[in-house]
Amino acid sequence: MAELLPRTYRLILKPGRDRSVRWRHPWIFSGSVGEAEALPEAAPGDLGEIYDHQGELLAVATVNPASQIVGRVLDWTGAPINEDWLAARLQAAWNWRRAVLADDPVFRWVNGEGDGLPGLILDHYAGFAVLQPAALIWSRLEEPLCRLVEAIGSVRGVIDKTETAVRDPQVAGEVRRLAGEEPPELLEIPEGGARLLVDLKSGQKTGLYLDQRANRLRLGRLAGGRRVLIPFAYTGGFGVQAALNGAERVVMIESSAAALELARRNWELNGLDPQRLSLIKADAWDELRRLDERFDLIILDPPALAKSARHLEGALRGYKDINLQALRRLAPGGWLATFSCSQHVAPDAFRKAIFNASSDAGVRLQCVARLGPGLDHPVALDHPQGEYLKGWLLRPLRTEAGDGQAPPSRTPAKDAEEKGTEREPGKPFPGEPTP
Ligand code: SAH
Repeated sequence: MAELLPRTYRLILKPGRDRSVRWRHPWIFSGSVGEAEALPEAAPGDLGEIYDHQGELLAVATVNPASQIVGRVLDWTGAPINEDWLAARLQAAWNWRRAVLADDPVFRWVNGEGDGLPGLILDHYAGFAVLQPAALIWSRLEEPLCRLVEAIGSVRGVIDKTETAVRDPQVAGEVRRLAGEEPPELLEIPEGGARLLVDLKSGQKTGLYLDQRANRLRLGRLAGGRRVLIPFAYTGGFGVQAALNGAERVVMIESSAAALELARRNWELNGLDPQRLSLIKADAWDELRRLDERFDLIILDPPALAKSARHLEGALRGYKDINLQALRRLAPGGWLATFSCSQHVAPDAFRKAIFNASSDAGVRLQCVARLGPGLDHPVALDHPQGEYLKGWLLRPLRTEAGDGQAPPSRTPAKDAEEKGTEREPGKPFPGEPTP
């Protein structure tokens, strides 16, 4: 059986730069390549052999010379990269979801490197498959990929939402139907006991933030009798779960009008009382400063504030600030669920940002649970970059005095050091999306 793409590249790594490939990290950065050879007919996305500087063949990768991640390793074993290879990986990923999610019809079918298919994101929405890959190879393999997705998943239709930067500029931008039926404008899917409308084509990501599906159910169950604030609400998934579990009142803030409108429709679709809901179209940083209400459960899931490593510092200030504002709006006995989905913000850095926020707010926080994505988002242990979503469920620790406050421990020097790290209202942090 022929390979899916021709082997037209050879990348020879600099001395000492072979270690991560031997440890099976799947990315080869351009800086670690000593010599690169390409046949005259080579095209970006083609297969390439990866050698150490002494000429030992280490792996086969897909190569994109224009990308900083010049190689993404497909295989270390010498197996041919043919249709059987692809079918086996798609089938294994499918089987795992079926084993752990029972008959849930909505899940991430392929989570890139975590499923041995670097850069491939494939979500399954009740019979529709949505591709949103981050590597060029998958645009080149659309035809076999669709055929296998239709056969393994018995899907009704496949659409492609590859982002502009990844795909061939000639076809970039538009959402395309690749196979089968066109999905309806709004697809209704179940989420636990809730019903949600999803706009697969124009919605953010593949339509929903599937990485938060398990947390929406889990945190929803904590919401009974509580006043709940959700500053980055998207289409209201967290809010609907909270309300179905008996939240007294739900306040959702969201900067996207389209998302907010779907949040309203989702609320209605679930037969929830509009009196218990406030929907606010605003910038969450501004609105949190404006609100003078107190809440018993706040769920903070901002967009990725660090789009790249360059934006790390601004992102950490952004996380600190939004968490500080949230802590100030927490009622006694309240809970804060806080997330970061920035790949460039390491768990420890995020922890420190939250700690700085709690220190400024004058509370000590107790971590009740660590939160991450569901079982359909496996991460390869040798690929920490895949572990982008991290979160905690926190509550102010009550001291012996019973006031929930930490003893003052601040020094003037510390105050001065931290002054100016607070974001001025209306001024975006570097790396923060403008609403
Ligand atoms: N927790 C949600 C997903 C949140 S994604 C879920 O489970 O469905 C982050 C959301 O924040 C997006 O909907 C985005 O439109 C919104 N957003 C981005 N910047 C914002 C800002 N400055 N203020 C308010 N919302 C913002």
